Amino acid sequence: MEQHIGLVTRGINNIYSVSENENRYLCRIKGKQLTSVVGEYNPIAVGDMVAFVVSGTNEGLITDRLDRKNSFQRWNIKGQCNQTVVANMDMIVCVCSADTPPFRPRFIDRVIACCQEVPVMLVMNKNDIMLTEDEFERFALYKKLGYPIIGVSAKTGENLEDLNRMLAGKTVAFVGQSGVGKSTLINRLLSTEQKTNEVSAKYNRGKHTTNYSLMIEGPDYILVDTPGVREILVPHGDPHRIAESFPEFREPSKECSYDHCLHNDEPDCKVKLLVEQGKIHSDRYDSYLRMLASLDTKAPEWMGKSQQSNTRYKSMENDEQEEY
Ligand code: GDP
Ligand code: ZN
Repeated sequence: MEQHIGLVTRGINNIYSVSENENRYLCRIKGKQLTSVVGEYNPIAVGDMVAFVVSGTNEGLITDRLDRKNSFQRWNIKGQCNQTVVANMDMIVCVCSADTPPFRPRFIDRVIACCQEVPVMLVMNKNDIMLTEDEFERFALYKKLGYPIIGVSAKTGENLEDLNRMLAGKTVAFVGQSGVGKSTLINRLLSTEQKTNEVSAKYNRGKHTTNYSLMIEGPDYILVDTPGVREILVPHGDPHRIAESFPEFREPSKECSYDHCLHNDEPDCKVKLLVEQGKIHSDRYDSYLRMLASLDTKAPEWMGKSQQSNTRYKSMENDEQEEY
């Protein structure tokens, strides 16, 4: 059978929407499992390129996933494995808010650590609400660290044109905590920039809970809306990857006495010294240590037996696990 290559634009209940040029197919995975993918929560995510064969009118069977250039992954605590939220993006746009929910920089730090080889941009929504001085300083720090940042208001429209310009020509995924105004923002961005486009008319998630990712094609950029989450955990893997997501550790870590210093309890650590001297923000460092500790989440079979089931696990157990 002739092999086709397409782009995954949506995945719900193991049925994937796949686009190949102007054609759309609803696909399942051939044989239910991709032999080339093991140990992952979901073999295919929005943004993946897949090989498939046509099995009926606008229907197909996916035979393989093509190599990814990058991904955004999180730890799925129920599945006890890493889950790919979205793949092959030009940029991850982390949407946060000045208030309701309150500004949570550690959430942003974790989003950054979930980015595997993807650039990140930070959008502060609800800019019509004032940040405290400390919050502003913590947010502005990201700019010093090299991340593009912008404050916008989906309510008043402030800076939305600038945001549109920053996204132009890219394929981007919006991620954020529930309530930050991601849906309002996306609706506003799409309706201001593509009034006549039928996609925007169809895109109206409104107040409905979104529990799957969706790729929406606009005239100037392609946007993937991901489900709002209450919490996000960094993917498990090499702990050094977490340290790498802290640009301010990069230079000093060359001067740590241990070659593979994790800046935790190793002696003669330059990163820790700079934290003590106030040259590295102590809240960023705390945020880092928490992420490192979160990698020790125990496997479920021996978690129950050891009486160590800490409150951390319990408190996150209720985190709704979205489909991607
Ligand atoms: P989501 O869960 O991130 O998709 O958030 P929603 O788009 O549903 O918005 C959550 C709440 O924030 C709603 O009550 C919105 O009206 C409100 N909201 C969204 N954007 C803004 C904004 O720029 N300023 C203010 N003050 N409120 C906003
Ligand atoms: Zn160190």
